[in-house]
Amino acid sequence: MTRVAIIGAGPSGMAQLRAFQSAQAKGIAIPEIVCFEKQSDWGGQWNYTWRTGTDKNGEAVHSSMYRYLWSNGPKEALEFADYSFDEHFGKPIGSYPPREVLWDYIKGRVEKADVRQYVRFNTAVRHIEFDEQTQQFTVTVHDYDQDALYSEVFDYVVVASGHFSTPKVPEYKGFEGFGGRVLHAHDFRDALEFQDKTVLVVGSSYSAEDIGSQCYKYGAKQIISCYRTAPMGFKWPKNWSERPALLRVDQSHAYFADGSSAQVDAIILCTGYLHYFPFMQEALRLKTDNRLYPLGLYKGVVFENNPKLFYLGMQDQWYTFNMFDAQAWYARDVILGQIQLPALAEMQAHTQQWHDEEKTLTEAGQMYKFQGDYILELIEATDYPTFDIEAMRLIFLEWKKHKKENIMTFRDHIYRSAITGTMAVPHHTTWLEALDDSLETYLTEPEVVQKKVV
Ligand SMILES: Cc1cc2nc3c(=O)[nH]c(=O)nc-3n(C[C@H](O)[C@H](O)[C@H](O)COP(=O)(O)OP(=O)(O)OC[C@H]3O[C@@H](n4cnc5c(N)ncnc54)[C@H](O)[C@@H]3O)c2cc1C
Repeated sequence: MTRVAIIGAGPSGMAQLRAFQSAQAKGIAIPEIVCFEKQSDWGGQWNYTWRTGTDKNGEAVHSSMYRYLWSNGPKEALEFADYSFDEHFGKPIGSYPPREVLWDYIKGRVEKADVRQYVRFNTAVRHIEFDEQTQQFTVTVHDYDQDALYSEVFDYVVVASGHFSTPKVPEYKGFEGFGGRVLHAHDFRDALEFQDKTVLVVGSSYSAEDIGSQCYKYGAKQIISCYRTAPMGFKWPKNWSERPALLRVDQSHAYFADGSSAQVDAIILCTGYLHYFPFMQEALRLKTDNRLYPLGLYKGVVFENNPKLFYLGMQDQWYTFNMFDAQAWYARDVILGQIQLPALAEMQAHTQQWHDEEKTLTEAGQMYKFQGDYILELIEATDYPTFDIEAMRLIFLEWKKHKKENIMTFRDHIYRSAITGTMAVPHHTTWLEALDDSLETYLTEPEVVQKKVV
């Protein structure tokens, strides 16, 4: 029987499991599937841990998420086309749910599909190698429950191990003598640690914006963010300033490219992540930076140099869960023989065309369109339910506008689902005032929570 290995049970790996199950539900024979997951539960980044550094098995901690993380984009733009928020929660909710609520949503679909049986938890993939003669992969793993290494042979491999876990850490002069804490965003867990402190946030992308906002919300005295190319440019609260590039630090101060300096208590490096696949044989390793259309992946999924290998979710992401679905359905249909791949040169030319187009994009609005078009191209090739991607693009534009209006209140806005047409309802508490991010508090009206406490 054909065997498929899926590496990782985060949203992308879960999408692959659901893709195969949905074919099976339609009476299509599916291969034998084994999903290897190094953590003890599924959900990838959404499976929060307080740990930093290493996990209980000594593996590098995977999740970079922190306490009080709320979705940074509208949930209506990431909704599954085959499993709506309405179906999961049974009532309309707000548009920017906290992490635990989104984790619950992604788990709901795969629990319904009953695919947990395919996942071998606490099992880290150590090495993957391809044999040209047999045309098969040998996957070597460490099963931590048995504390045993073993290898199995597969016909196809789907890598869904994520790319926001291995920090890209720059070095600045003076770090070794700095008197406060220096940490990467990957190790940021709880903004309360920075209450009453002056925090320097290095970087100008989502992590910088959100970690800085968390620090503000939970009582940091002052936030300074610094940028290499351009400021984030939002209307920041009074105690948040943006400065040009960090040049160096000493024991207590940071020095910037405009000649200014500031006393800081802690430095958080929001400087991005590396695509890192230490378990891949050299010839199978995807080498890319964080971009919308990496080279080497036909349709953003098929590893061109070995089309029995697939990578999911390796793009820079505007769309997330529904894009992983489009990719997983596509990979599934290649594996099932329902999609025939063109010759290598044709695949490469197709990828190059998209890659070149990506380079011409200058505005976020163009990027939403680009990634939306990419998703549509994938969906048209499979039976993944099509959806109104144009409506989602408009939601992204609204989101951008709301952030520009007020970066501290954009999460109080609501949008209409492009899948069900349901309008979200405003959350019972504004984001700035909602200090408890638990699923229970989020889904329960405050009076009810109050009564329970009494
Ligand atoms: C701080 C942060 C905030 C984010 N906020 C949002 C948001 O608000 N909205 C949004 O849509 N997206 C957000 N994202 C993007 C997020 O990455 C995606 O939503 C999604 O989690 C990506 O899914 P994935 O399955 O591709 O990767 P991951 O979620 O990273 O899952 C990969 C899985 O592979 C496993 N794995 C890795 N290596 C191995 C190995 N060697 N052996 C076995 N298993 C392995 C991991 O344990 C993990 O379970 C955020 C990301 C970060 C880091």
